[in-house]
Amino acid sequence: MDAKTCMEKFQKIGVLNFATIGLDGSPQVRCISAIHYSENEMYFFTAPGKAFYDELIADGRVQILGYTKFKEMIRMSATAKQVEETERRKFIDIIFSEQPYLSNLYSGEKRYIGVIFVIKDAEIEYFNLGVNPIFRESYTIGNGKINFKGFEISENCISCGQCINVCPQSAITEGKPFKIDQTHCLHCGACRKVCPVNAVVKRG
Ligand code: SF4
Ligand code: SF4
Repeated sequence: MDAKTCMEKFQKIGVLNFATIGLDGSPQVRCISAIHYSENEMYFFTAPGKAFYDELIADGRVQILGYTKFKEMIRMSATAKQVEETERRKFIDIIFSEQPYLSNLYSGEKRYIGVIFVIKDAEIEYFNLGVNPIFRESYTIGNGKINFKGFEISENCISCGQCINVCPQSAITEGKPFKIDQTHCLHCGACRKVCPVNAVVKRG
């Protein structure tokens, strides 16, 4: 798995959930399909009268979520930026040609009331729940940064083995210290709960 494949999966899913931060600080989520993909970039269309637009201008942070029929969750965390005016019409035309239904909403020249935002730098999390053990990895596009989550085992580990017994994914291997395989970890926290010396600590 890699960032490029995740983007291709987004494209196949088609309609994605876009979460933003409301002007009053509340969570906001919408289904968006007016999207154009180019290598490691995502362009999307909206209209300037929408609250979505206000939130993108005010803050810009978005989380985009897609879920495949194979139980793969793909999440992108990024900041969206409005494209330059010189590029706006070009990307509107591209998106309308790829998504002809949009002409039902904005016929003819009325499409040009729209605006285009682009994501070039992002973190992408891939989480496959349809395999055993589960598989997860994180990638970046552009200058995106990985926000490490979950747990790791510190040098305080006394190798008692209690965490291995409770791990639902067999993600822990013996050693000094014991080690968590991050690609198979559910982030459930069971290992941290049983550790007698608090050797299981949050990452990041
Ligand atoms: S429970 Fe804690 S001390 Fe015991 S093996 Fe696991 S991490 Fe190490
Ligand atoms: S957080 Fe859960 S899945 Fe991950 S290593 Fe600990 S017990 Fe296993």
